[in-house]
This record gives sequence, C-alpha cells and structure tokens, in this order.
Amino acid sequence: MAPIRPSAHLADVRYEIRGALTRRARELEAAGLDIIKLNIGNPGRYGFATPAHLREAIAAHLGDSEAYGHEQGLEAAREAIAAQQRARGAQGVEVERIFIGNGVSELIDLALRALLQPGDEVLLPSPDYPLWSAATILNDGTPRYYRCLAENAHLPDPDEIEALVTPRTRALVLINPNNPTGAVYPRGLLERLVAVAARHRLLLLCDEIYDEILYDGAVFQPLAAVAGELPALSFGGLSKVHRACGYRVGWMSLSGDPARSRDYRDALQLLAALRLCANVTAQWAVMPALESAPTIHALTAPGGRLHEARRKVIEGVAASDYLDLVPPAGALYAFPSVRADRIATFDDNAFALRLLEEEHVLVVPGSSFNVPASRHLRLTLLPPPEQLREVFVRMERVLERMAAG
Ligand code: PLP
Repeated sequence: MAPIRPSAHLADVRYEIRGALTRRARELEAAGLDIIKLNIGNPGRYGFATPAHLREAIAAHLGDSEAYGHEQGLEAAREAIAAQQRARGAQGVEVERIFIGNGVSELIDLALRALLQPGDEVLLPSPDYPLWSAATILNDGTPRYYRCLAENAHLPDPDEIEALVTPRTRALVLINPNNPTGAVYPRGLLERLVAVAARHRLLLLCDEIYDEILYDGAVFQPLAAVAGELPALSFGGLSKVHRACGYRVGWMSLSGDPARSRDYRDALQLLAALRLCANVTAQWAVMPALESAPTIHALTAPGGRLHEARRKVIEGVAASDYLDLVPPAGALYAFPSVRADRIATFDDNAFALRLLEEEHVLVVPGSSFNVPASRHLRLTLLPPPEQLREVFVRMERVLERMAAG
C-alpha cells in the first residue's frame, strides 16, 4: 500500500520550539541525563503556580461546565475582557466582539482563516512567534517579514514595513511585549504603525499575551487605544500573566468602528461556532483573573523571581567574552546574540546542538523564529535564577571551544 502522504500545506511550516532539539533532549533524558531546559515559556513546568483564586473559581463552577457554552465564550468572561479593553482605551468593544478560545493559539489560526484569500500577504515580525507564520501559511497566505534588529533595540521600522506593502497585503501583525526579543513598543512607534495600517487599510493583529509582564519600569501601551476607530484585534490570555498554560484560555477583542469590521466579525463567529466552544471549565478563571490586580507584578518587581532571573541573564552576558544582549523590557525570554568580532562564522543550530550534547542545556536557536542566518539564541527566564548562572558557565565553555575551532 502506498504510504499516506501529508498535506503539501505543511511543507513550509515549522515549530522548532518543540522540534528536533527537544526530541533529542527527551532521548538524553531517557538515557538518564539531567537536561536544563530553557526552551518553552511554560511557567507551570518551573514551579510557578496558578493563583489560588483562579483555581478555586474553576472548582466552584465544575457543575456549571458540563454543557457546550456560547461559541464566543462565557458571557461573564467576555464582559470582564470587554471591561479590561475599555479601561485601556479601546473603542467599540462589546461582548459580541470578544472571542474566547482554547488558548491564543487557536484564535491566531481562526483570525487568519477568517481573513485570508489564497495569495494574500501578512506583514509579520522577524523574529516572530512561529505560530503566526505557520497559521498564515496554513491559511494560504504569504508571510512578508519586517525586521526587528538588535541594533534598533528589536523595534520595527515603520518605513521598512510600509515599503513591504503591496496590493495583496491584508494585515499587520505586532507582538508586544515581544516573544522572543522582550521588546516593549513605545506609544510613538505604535502611532506610526497604526498610521501605516490606516493608509493601506490593513487589519491590525496585536498579540499582547505578555501584556502585564514588564521589567524595570517598562510601560505597556495597548494597541487598541492607539488604533481608535481602525479595526484591530488584540489577543490576551491566561497562559503567561496568570501562569495557567494548561487551562488553554485565550481571548481576542475586536476594536474600532464596528461598521468597518461587521462582516469580518460574522466570519469569526461562524468559525467559532464550527468548533462549538472553547473549554468551558477553564473559562471560569477569566473573571477572577481580570477583576483583581495581576499577581505577576510581585514576580517582576525587584526581589521577585522573574526580576532576579532577568538580572542573572544580564550579569551572565556582561561576564561573557562572546555574548551581547538587548535586555528584555517585558515577556519571559532573553534573546542574546554571539558577537561577530569573537566568532566570525556562527551557526546557531550547530551551537544549540553542541550545547545540548556537550553541556546538557536546551535553548532555541534564533533562526527558529523566522530569521535568516541568526546569531541569536532564546532562553526563558523561568528557571530558578541560580540555575541561569550555571547555564552561562556552560554556554561560555561551548563558545570557547567553538572560537578555538
Ligand atoms: N502568542 C505568543 C507571542 C506566545 O509566546 C504564545 C505562547 O508561547 C502564544 C501566543 C500561545 O499562547 P496560548 O497558550 O494562549 O495558546
């Protein structure tokens, strides 16, 4: 019998955060080795607990979770999300323009599926969170990458973005605070990006899943507040800020003049209905999550575990002969690079494999984030800060060996 052939759609789809290196790390673990894993932004795996009041809300509502719910999500949860968005200055946000999904991951696909015709183009950051590229390709779109270079503090250049616009461009994707770079976009930059979207009638898609994870006084500016009447979809969720990745709850909120996005909203609702509803049980955690101050601030403030982890990474880079870093202003990652004056020809994939095989540390090579020939690596800030110190000792040993040839 002929082998079963997978869809050709998948030919250009990658997700290296859980790719070949991770599979190799599992083999090494099965062989009895201890691997320090810095590859996934999954707080629950590193001893971070979901706040008790979220858990308690779910437990209290188990009996109300057994039937399918509304395709867009629990009304009370959507009320809480709409209230958050309005308080942030978003216009035109009502419960019927909020969609709750099984994580932001499901909604990224849904938002692009409702938008794209074959050959439509989507402006994506490079580096990106690779699901954005994958979902664009799987929905017959074409990614067009704008660069977020370390030389520019990993911020995008609105002129470069505008130069990429063609008659086929439909949407501009922003990730703020950014995974993998940790950049947090200032308001002036968002205003210029919104102006580009307005001139070319692009839908703004803003992944704000790290919205409350900020360091050293960085300020998060919600895109919807800047976009005003322009249609914008803002994404948020429980996974990161509320350390509840396993609950699989994310949301998106459609802001701007409702008349300009009515048909698109209806398309989103149809797609949401086709998958019936998101996990009802976990949606009960949305109200307590949004109706009290985010508990993550205690972890990002001086003395907090994430703050200390970030400090260890900055110290590790400062002590290194080989590494550079734009310190992350937000999110759960650092994105250091290897200096060209110390190692002229650097292959990030080869380095990550050596680091795993020789020193038992798992990181994600920068090229996994749709950057050609990257000199970067992504590390999560989630391990205990002391372990991060050890990670830098081990990385330095491999870099020394590579520099020695
Ligand atoms: N967007 C970004 C930028 C992320 O980093 C992640 C997860 O790492 C997601 C979306 C997916 O989040 P969720 O757990 O809500 O599916």
